[in-house]
Amino acid sequence: MHNLTQKVKHYLDGSRQLENAFKYSIVLYAVAFVHLIITIVFFYYNILPMYLYNALIFGIYLYMAGVFIKKKAYRAIYLFSLFEILFHSVYATLLVGWEWGFMIYTIALVSVAFYMAFTLSQFHKKILTPFISGIIILLCFIGTKLFCVSHVPYFRDFASSRAVGIYYCFNSLVCFVMLILFSFFFVLEIRHTQLHLEQEKETLDAIASHDPLTQLLNRRSMEVHLRKAMEQAKKSGTQFCVILGDIDDFKKVNDTYGHECGDKVLILVADMIRSHMRPEDSVCRWGGEEILLLINGAETVATALAEKIRSSIEHASVTEEGTQVSVTMTFGVASYVPGFKINKLIQLADNNLYIGKNNGKNQVVS
Ligand code: GH3
Ligand code: MG
Ligand code: MG
Repeated sequence: MHNLTQKVKHYLDGSRQLENAFKYSIVLYAVAFVHLIITIVFFYYNILPMYLYNALIFGIYLYMAGVFIKKKAYRAIYLFSLFEILFHSVYATLLVGWEWGFMIYTIALVSVAFYMAFTLSQFHKKILTPFISGIIILLCFIGTKLFCVSHVPYFRDFASSRAVGIYYCFNSLVCFVMLILFSFFFVLEIRHTQLHLEQEKETLDAIASHDPLTQLLNRRSMEVHLRKAMEQAKKSGTQFCVILGDIDDFKKVNDTYGHECGDKVLILVADMIRSHMRPEDSVCRWGGEEILLLINGAETVATALAEKIRSSIEHASVTEEGTQVSVTMTFGVASYVPGFKINKLIQLADNNLYIGKNNGKNQVVS
């Protein structure tokens, strides 16, 4: 029971897709049920072509519910039930008359045909089959009505007009239930598709904005953050800084331990830096082994943070074939001054980084 409630909840919030087996079982059992009712009613009135046909078709639908669903032969179920319902509507109308309301089914059939075809992967041109079906249904509807205007039904006056009226209401009820149910399914289907697309978009956005090796932001998305920080600074006078870091003698790590070990070091460095970030700061892989940090706050705050990061990297290491490989990193800090362009700010940080490299590396220059 708990499982069923969970399942229904997931159908409703769009996190679970309506399975074809579920939808087609509903179709088959519902249509079989209606044929059973018709069989009983017309057996009562002793209209042999009606109850015989409906009893036979009732059996076929039950068989399909047992066998075709297991075989996932949804296209066959779709086409069979579409044309059987249409055929039966015309057949029953010609036999017993328009006023019984058998043609009402065909109206619901048009929208159900579109919905079911839309959700079936076998229909590549999903619109063509239901569209042609819709035209055929329309022609049958008008054709049958015109025929009934000028011809009397084969069986007449076997039921009171009250009974015919009640039966008309039953057919209308089934038709409306079909329309409401399948419109509801359609909404659930759209909800599921929307949710799925939103999740896909989130995944793609994450891939597009992050560096695949270090999982830090990439340069392009950092540029967006930098522009935002500049706008914020212009608007409300907030202070921010950038820190440009470059791993010292990284070529040597690659040359001595291999490129893969170099990658491991890069990941370690990225993780260490990330662990020092506050929620309002951003960090990206600016280039090969260059990391750029965007720090909200004054230069003293940024310099202190860079120093903490420098020190923690100095004491960390990765293990490569039993050897501890450690690196150091040099940082250049620059503070934003109103009127600066982004390039100018980065250039200032790069100049400080250059000074640090020339002064013996493993240091923070601001
Ligand atoms: P310096 O102290 O002056 O920075 O010396 P350096 O050896 O680090 O010199 P430089 O910054 O010019 O060298 C960058 C090296 O980083 C060269 C390149 O092979 C390596 N590198 C860049 N990207 C990657 C990467 O994704 N993985 C690995 N393993 N190495 C990388
Ligand atoms: Mg370097
Ligand atoms: Mg470099």
